[in-house]
This record gives sequence, structure tokens and C-alpha cells, in this order.
Amino acid sequence: MLSLRLYGPNDIRLVETDIPSINDDELLLKTTAAAICGTDIRMWQNGYKGVDEAHPLTLGHEFAGRVTRVGKNVSFYKEGMQVSLQPNIGCGICDRCVAGNGHLCENYRAFGINMDGAFAEYVRIPADAIRNGNLMLLPEGISPAEAAVIEPLSCAYNGFTKCFVKPGEYALIVGAGPIGISHAMLLHMAGAAVLMNDLQQDRLEDCKRIMPFVETYHGDDLPGFVKEWTRGRGLDIAIVACPVPQVQAAMLLLMNYGGRVNFFGGIPASKQPVPIDTNLVHYRELYLTGSTRSSIGQYRKTMEFVSQGLLKVEKIISDRYYIKDILTAFENAGQAKGLKHVITF
Ligand SMILES: [Zn+2]
Ligand SMILES: [Zn+2]
Repeated sequence: MLSLRLYGPNDIRLVETDIPSINDDELLLKTTAAAICGTDIRMWQNGYKGVDEAHPLTLGHEFAGRVTRVGKNVSFYKEGMQVSLQPNIGCGICDRCVAGNGHLCENYRAFGINMDGAFAEYVRIPADAIRNGNLMLLPEGISPAEAAVIEPLSCAYNGFTKCFVKPGEYALIVGAGPIGISHAMLLHMAGAAVLMNDLQQDRLEDCKRIMPFVETYHGDDLPGFVKEWTRGRGLDIAIVACPVPQVQAAMLLLMNYGGRVNFFGGIPASKQPVPIDTNLVHYRELYLTGSTRSSIGQYRKTMEFVSQGLLKVEKIISDRYYIKDILTAFENAGQAKGLKHVITF
């Protein structure tokens, strides 16, 4: 089968590998769609710990597939079922896993990060992923490509749940890539007025095109614009979906009393600590929140939003490629062209 493998920094290759074998407790999926994520691009450019010429890794953690082989001890799943999955497999026994937060497990593993992923024609699904509920059946009406982009959307949903959104509130999202757009769709679904900001004007134009309901701002007086847009009140919600320390610090100045800020994107460790004015948190009674990855529960909930027609996730998919053209897909995604790049098989 064809597999896209990482061998080290700036070294990905499309190679022939054996179709994985499975044991009695495992499943084999025929991959039906897999999406490229910023994490894949960073792993490609920077390499990844433990990955080298002798230990290559098949990338790809946002995917859907069809069950093609079923170990004899596996219950429920049958050949031919269309499935997708939340790629972070918790240990299943620690407090965080038991609380439903396997994505925060100290010992979690993830497809395409520290085990072979889905930029390949077949993927082996280990027993713990099946038992922990990482896998789910695709609801009616969701295509494999749509299912493949549920994972990033579910990460945005995790951030969304930290912001306690109410209808009519004013929300700003900084960063207008696929993640920012996911946030905008969720906030709009909940009845918030949404403003998007980004350094790249073309990204904002894309946003406006696929989400006519959003306001966009591209200029050097964001505070002035926010003041006018919120009629002097300030923001109820701010989502920082870009890795810029100054943006995190500046957000606090734009908030209304009782506002909620979500630091969605991580900041490179070399740029920490980020100085923030804690008096703004104190006197305006702000809530500073963070979120990372998503739980299996949030993943399934997000899938429901899409199957109910509340989120038009297909709008995030800008480009589709066959696996044989995946290197071109990586080049394009690496240059931040388009939105989500999805590989079909
Ligand atoms: Zn991802
Ligand atoms: Zn655990």
C-alpha cells in the first residue's frame, strides 16, 4: 500500500509499505479520507522525537475509514461499516481518562504522532482505541471527507465550551485559518455576533465568502473597531487562535466586564512567559481559559452538530487530492494556501 512517511526534518516520502496485520482484538480500516493539519506540517518541517531513517512514522491523525478486517474477539464492529475516530488514545485507567478526558491523559498515544497514522491506504486500529470508544460509526449523510475534518472542529468545540456563550454576545476570533473558521461557525451556531481578525486579508475574504454572517476587520486600529462594533461595551468572548504573545496580552484590553478569553493556540516555549496586565482580569472580572485537543465526548457531539445540519463543515474543505498527489497537498498546505486539504483514496 502507499504510505506517507516522515523520516526526519523536511523529509517526507510517499513509499510502498506492507498492509498492516492485525491480531484478534484489532481492526483494519481501509482509509476513505484524511485531512492535513498544522501539526502534520510542523512535524514535516521540524521532524519529531524518535523519528529517523530507521524509525519512520506514517503521518495523519484526522481521518475516516471503512472496516475491512475484524479480529475475532472484537464486538460490535463489522466489515463494511463506515467509521471515523478521535485520534488520541488515553490509557483508560487514570483519573483523567475515567473522567472522560483521555485527551489529557499523561500516557496518551495518537495516530500519526507516536504510532502509524492515516496517510496510508490501510490503518491498524489497536484494541484500546476500540475499547475506549475512540471509534464511532458515521451518521447518515456525512461523507468521509467531512468526517475527516471533525477532529479539528471538535478541538474548537472544546475551546467553545470554556466560553459559556450566550445569544447576542460579541465574540472576536484572531486567526482566520481553518481553526478560526471552526470557532466562528460554533459561535454563530450559539447566537453570538462574530468578528474575525487576521494579518492576511485574503484569509478574511475567504471567511466572508464562506460565512457571510461574520464581520471582518483588517487594519491597524482593532481596539477602535471593537469599541464601535460593540457600542462601547467591549468583547464578551475572545478566542486567540494564533501563536502570538502580543495578541494574547492585547486581548484583555478589549474585553467587556465578565468577558471570557480562550487561549486556543499554544505559544512557542522560547516566547514564554507572556506578560499580561492582571489588573484587567481583576477589575473587569474576566475569565482566562485554555483548551487543547478534544475529548471523545466532544468529538461525538461535534459529529452530531454536523449531522443535524447546524455546522456546514464541507465549507472548510478547500482542496482534495488522491494519495498519489499527497506531496503536492503538503506543499500547498505548507504555504498556507486554501483551508483544509483532504486526501481521498
Ligand atoms: Zn490535527
Ligand atoms: Zn489515562
